[in-house]
Amino acid sequence: MDFHLTDEQQFIREAIRDVCQKYQASYWRKLDLENEYPEEFVQELTRLGWLSILIPEEYGGGGLGIVEASIVLEEINRSGGHGAACHAQMYTMGTLLRNGNASQKDRYLPSVAAGDLRFQAFAVTEPDAGSETTRIETTAVRHGDHYVINGEKVFISRVLESDLMLLLARTTPYADLEDKTDGLSVFIVDLRDAGDSVQVQPIDVMLNHHTNAVFFDNLEVPEENLVGVEGKGFRHIINSWNPERILIAAEAIGDGRWFIDKSTKYAGDRVVFGRQIGANQGVQFPVARAYAHIEAADLIRYKAASMFDRQESCGAEANMAKLLAGEAAWEAANVAMDIHGGYAFAREFDVERKFRETRLLSSAPVSTNMILSYLGQHVLGMPRSY
Ligand SMILES: Cc1cc2nc3c(=O)[nH]c(=O)nc-3n(C[C@H](O)[C@H](O)[C@H](O)COP(=O)(O)OP(=O)(O)OC[C@H]3O[C@@H](n4cnc5c(N)ncnc54)[C@H](O)[C@@H]3O)c2cc1C
Repeated sequence: MDFHLTDEQQFIREAIRDVCQKYQASYWRKLDLENEYPEEFVQELTRLGWLSILIPEEYGGGGLGIVEASIVLEEINRSGGHGAACHAQMYTMGTLLRNGNASQKDRYLPSVAAGDLRFQAFAVTEPDAGSETTRIETTAVRHGDHYVINGEKVFISRVLESDLMLLLARTTPYADLEDKTDGLSVFIVDLRDAGDSVQVQPIDVMLNHHTNAVFFDNLEVPEENLVGVEGKGFRHIINSWNPERILIAAEAIGDGRWFIDKSTKYAGDRVVFGRQIGANQGVQFPVARAYAHIEAADLIRYKAASMFDRQESCGAEANMAKLLAGEAAWEAANVAMDIHGGYAFAREFDVERKFRETRLLSSAPVSTNMILSYLGQHVLGMPRSY
């Protein structure tokens, strides 16, 4: 066992730290207050090639793995930034890479790698289906050489900041299916050509996340934009869930470390009752406990990421990494709120902003209950609970 990063991985960590140093807390705070997208930051990361490190070198990407991609996102969050602005390109890429055909990869990947195309929207969730993805109702009906899409999605992030969207839609009615995981298909939607067929309605949420309701009204998608096999879209999407969970775990680890840094510094600086507040065990021990939980979650994050990169089955590890890192970050967030007293609520301290950002990681892109039911049923062999 070797728990050390390679020189290349360490280099990536330091390179991302260097980029993030230019985007101080005031930059993220202002964006948060104004609900604005970190355009300049995302452009710089794209230009430097960090958002395309999962794209194979033959298409102009970095040709690296999930371990490295996770380091990029961890460092963004650890710096006080918010990786959600750009993480989806890394997940959507996986479905295209694994299930797309050669002509789709030739058409899109070089432009995404060069930063000419943004592929950051991932449209699965629907208002009624919620977590039960096999119940989605947005339809894709074939008409000659194209599909016609109708329906509604909710909480679809970065649609207005993306050129392409990966869409899951129903190609066979639910009632006609023997295996209910069949009948869904994945499409690449070119949002630049969509016109009025795609209506986007921003949803005001408690953090700066650029998420939207999206309505499809007779949107025509050419048949060449079907990714993988018609009717097997649920399985294609599932393949991208493990990297998604690992990358979100890394973001949570980054947040957790940001909270620990912030808390230890404040515990040393703040003097009340004639001594540093960190000298009190009631202040110090919760930080130490949260730190230990983050370090433990980080081990399973790297285990899951390494297994994924070795093409080993890693569903259990990816889910546990997401669960444990999300919980550890949330614990560290609450500790930071306590330690900062009233100042935790003052926006200029950034704790309340990161607190709001971190909370999402336990609910989306997959909720804690869904992870526990996966572990209970698929790893521990208990009865299906839903
Ligand atoms: C800011 C934000 C951004 C998002 N971005 C995207 C995006 O870009 N693309 C996208 O497709 N989606 C996105 N989502 C959606 C997110 O993935 C969903 O909110 C999530 O999958 C849950 O769906 P739901 O909200 O309908 O919850 P529901 O499915 O209604 O679940 C509600 C609660 O009930 C629990 N529950 C439900 N059934 C069971 C059961 N059988 N056993 C135990 N517990 C159960 C769930 O775990 C959850 O805690 C985003 C959400 C948010 C808030």
